[in-house]
Amino acid sequence: MIPFNKPFIAGRELYYIAQAVTLGNLSGDGHFTKRCAALMQERFGIPKVLLTPSCTASLEMAAQLCDIGPGDEVIMPSYTFVSTASAFVRMGGRPVFVDIRPDTLNIDETLIEAAITARTKAICVVHYAGVACEMDRIMAIARGYNLKVVEDAAQGVNSWYNGRALGSIGDLGCYSFHETKNYICGEGGALCINNPELIQRAEIIRDKGTNRQRFFRGEVDKYTWVDVGSSYVPSEICSAFLYGQLEEMDRISDRRRVLYHNYRQGLRSLEVSGQIRLPRIPEDCQSNYHLFYLLLPSPAVRDALLQRLKAEEVTALFHYVPLHSSPCGLQFAGAEALPVTDDASARLVRLPMFFDLSEQDQRKIVDVLVRIVPELCRDLVGVGETALVLSQR
Ligand SMILES: *Cc1c(COP(=O)(O)O)cnc(C)c1O
Repeated sequence: MIPFNKPFIAGRELYYIAQAVTLGNLSGDGHFTKRCAALMQERFGIPKVLLTPSCTASLEMAAQLCDIGPGDEVIMPSYTFVSTASAFVRMGGRPVFVDIRPDTLNIDETLIEAAITARTKAICVVHYAGVACEMDRIMAIARGYNLKVVEDAAQGVNSWYNGRALGSIGDLGCYSFHETKNYICGEGGALCINNPELIQRAEIIRDKGTNRQRFFRGEVDKYTWVDVGSSYVPSEICSAFLYGQLEEMDRISDRRRVLYHNYRQGLRSLEVSGQIRLPRIPEDCQSNYHLFYLLLPSPAVRDALLQRLKAEEVTALFHYVPLHSSPCGLQFAGAEALPVTDDASARLVRLPMFFDLSEQDQRKIVDVLVRIVPELCRDLVGVGETALVLSQR
């Protein structure tokens, strides 16, 4: 069975873990946590990066830093992972879901302004598949209405938009180093703080609500409880592993770029004949090739394809059940009509994509698709319907 994802060693991860033990400090904010943060600050042009135990933790910190309180509204896509919404709901906030663009499956920036009300406090964008949202337009809207912008860049580490790193553009950016992402340490994340006014409070929230970081810097003579916080500092073991990955960032990206283009090349004929639609990367975006997906002509073809791939020993997956139709989404946001979200989520398949995926296995996946997709389209889609359906989107 070809797996969908597999954790990998890119270089010196295990050596660095041993080194962390030798250095005698396995709790947080030691040697490797600092080196990871410094590397990302420099490389991505971010004033302050704080490592966290997950992107979910980073989003929770971001919600608190945006001062979200009961009844405050946060504009976001419904086509995303649960943490994007739950981080704000935990503070009493209400997600206001906006539909996505049919090309990138990112939040449709042309629909944002109509969703703003007197209660809107923030916009949380999600860079799906490591491809940037239209950030220039979104930042201009946010500035016009005095809203904070949070980037859920869980999938967008080392992706770029007009020369700027994702996570470095909004007030706050959130990264994930979960083992399913591009650069991994098992479970891990980072909070990128681009608005300097938020740095000091972020340090306090991350360190149990204390001003211990100021104490370490000698700015206060003892530390104490000064705000509501939590335990959002990762262990040095995770940071040591992560540093081994971050210093190999270019090699990891290069490998993913090759895999991405192999898929594109191999599946081009299916797209040309109107039987699938491949991912789109706009001109001003440089992707980290986080994932590779196909859009099939109909939900019936998608579901049948998932079954057939399983029988061929290829693990392919659908993606998000849209949050607006989930039990908690209905409870905290209320039902809305989001036609592009519903449509894309019902027709999308993600293919295996990981550092150690071999050329041979990838060849097999492509061959299986080239054989099966036309069969399914012939059997399940009406004559002439396929090309029509796909060209409209
Ligand atoms: C993976 C992911 C998250 C959660 O990341 P964790 O590090 O597992 O908490 C949040 N948002 C998006 C869009 C993701 O893809």
